[in-house]
Amino acid sequence: MASTAALTTSSLLRRSRALRGHVFPKPLPNPSSINLARPPPALLRPRRFMCRNAASGNEEAAAKAAAKIADTGAPTIFDKIIAKEIPSTIVYEDDKVLAFRDVNPQAPVHILVIPKMRDGLTQLGKAKPRHAEVLGHLLFAAKLVAEKEGIVDGFRVVINNGPEACQSVYHLHLHVLGGRQLKWPPG
Ligand code: 5GP
Repeated sequence: MASTAALTTSSLLRRSRALRGHVFPKPLPNPSSINLARPPPALLRPRRFMCRNAASGNEEAAAKAAAKIADTGAPTIFDKIIAKEIPSTIVYEDDKVLAFRDVNPQAPVHILVIPKMRDGLTQLGKAKPRHAEVLGHLLFAAKLVAEKEGIVDGFRVVINNGPEACQSVYHLHLHVLGGRQLKWPPG
């Protein structure tokens, strides 16, 4: 076993992050050393299905579990928020949509915009022609929310669709994120 003295700063960092549940992939090879005819396995391995959340560390499992009951018609937490059975901080509301602050914000501004009537829209991938109007309404509401929050010049709208995108609530929702420099590509 390696002695503590033999551990490098990066290996110590890797260990401490692994203990805290962070995804900390091994460094990729130097690009100039890659033989493009035979790329190393690490470059061929798909890095999909790695949905992690710093808060829970278990976003992927939660997303898979949620997907299993997505189309049962069971109410979601958002039905309770619409019915005001559980509290939320509402920032915008009209007859078709509700916008409220995410309970686990990923940016200084993180608001969810949802249709009040789910009408089969558990996720964007289930959209039918009849949903075109409400989809447009949701997008316009996202812009109104960005204006209200003072981030209209720099914000991001995200829709996670399905377990591979770590969707955890099966009632269509737009995430409106801003208030800090957002990175690209997203995780
Ligand atoms: P998804 O992962 O499905 O794209 O996003 C669902 C979002 O709903 C998450 O960002 C999560 O933090 C948020 N969320 C889950 N439960 C509640 C809640 O009870 N209240 C609020 N305000 N947000 C919630």
